[in-house]
Amino acid sequence: MNIVLLGAPGAGKGTQAAKLVEDEGLCHISTGDILRQAVKDQTELGLKAKAFMDAGDLVPDELIIDLMKERFQQPDTAKGVILDGFPRTTTQAVALDAMLQDLGRPLDAALLIDVDPEVIVARLSSRRMCRECGHIGTASDAVCPACGGEMYQRDDDNEATVRNRLDVYEKSTSPLIDYYRGCDLLITIDGDRDPDVVYADVKGALGL
Ligand SMILES: [Zn+2]
Repeated sequence: MNIVLLGAPGAGKGTQAAKLVEDEGLCHISTGDILRQAVKDQTELGLKAKAFMDAGDLVPDELIIDLMKERFQQPDTAKGVILDGFPRTTTQAVALDAMLQDLGRPLDAALLIDVDPEVIVARLSSRRMCRECGHIGTASDAVCPACGGEMYQRDDDNEATVRNRLDVYEKSTSPLIDYYRGCDLLITIDGDRDPDVVYADVKGALGL
């Protein structure tokens, strides 16, 4: 089963992906991880990608597709993959479709974990992190529940930053959502519930 995972930052995508990896043996693939690994392994494609990154340029879609193709050859992808952070544009989605058709491993679903932006703003801007152990808690934790350390708010989690990230997400992802709806692959799950309840819905919708 091959899935594209969509959802705003803070919607709980990572949690759902982790459960699918554990239960279904799917392979979680993020563009960032692929790039880092290829650069680290100094593969031919990795070196090409590194040249773009070192120059401060975006890695071209074509190269990312080639890296994806290479990644799909690894045995851990046999049961299927969850693509996270890719595609980001409809151009990339079209290229991805062509690549997957080519491999005979077409996409089964585009899974959107949908949460109202205001809920995400509230969720993320109340998040606090422990300076000592990295534990993630909330504004109601006076000290770290795990180690008693000092809790602080990361710059990424302040409200203005969160709103800005959500805006960027919204603008880039809505054409992608329309694209997958048009392909009849879009599955929308209400993500504003307990993660286990969300997961039960995800499994049901995917027929697992
Ligand atoms: Zn701590």
